[in-house]
Amino acid sequence: MTAVQRSTPQSAPTPNFDARPIDVRFLVIHYTAVDLERTLEIFADPARKAAAHLVIDRDGAIYECVPCWEGVALRAWHAGRSAWSTGVDRWETLNDWSIGIELVNYNGNVIDFTQAQYETLAHVIGHLARNYPALQAAESLLGHEQIAGFRGKADPGWHFDWPRVFAACYPEQPAPERPPVCPPALRDALARFVEIAPEAAPAANAFWERVSLLTETAVALAADGNRQ
Ligand SMILES: [Zn+2]
Repeated sequence: MTAVQRSTPQSAPTPNFDARPIDVRFLVIHYTAVDLERTLEIFADPARKAAAHLVIDRDGAIYECVPCWEGVALRAWHAGRSAWSTGVDRWETLNDWSIGIELVNYNGNVIDFTQAQYETLAHVIGHLARNYPALQAAESLLGHEQIAGFRGKADPGWHFDWPRVFAACYPEQPAPERPPVCPPALRDALARFVEIAPEAAPAANAFWERVSLLTETAVALAADGNRQ
């Protein structure tokens, strides 16, 4: 991996955003559930109505789908129905308030993120925090599962090393808790899919997209059960 790959994003345009600037208060971390090529294909499809600002591939290369890098973030469609309470304030519809970063990973509850992704992510967070002052607080860093776990979102998942990212990006601040929403029994069951997964696209994408659907369905049911 070259330093050039890590330092600035390549453009990967999408129609799935609103062309108005947002007041950035949070960063939301996701995993893609498919490979880079399929991710960018989905984001380029207006019917899917989904896109994050940035995508970080397994090798650390950065792609900018919705503008944010230069200091004005437009409204990307990455968080969907979502809510977050800081103890003081309650935030809803996090697309209005956050930059979304997708890490390429078939399922972060059972598959590791790469060294290159962690290094690039730290660089990206450092860059964005210079442009968006709210991101200088460790508390601004969230996972999709923290804000939308109630409807089954389970990314970035068990294998995302939050303590490592907080230590790298916010060494002077206490690391907030970001517990995964996927129940351990489900995680262990999902791990069995890794053993039989096809390795090459498009079969791997088709396989893991379905596993992702299953993950979200099971997590939503578990969240529902917990509320009753
Ligand atoms: Zn997500």
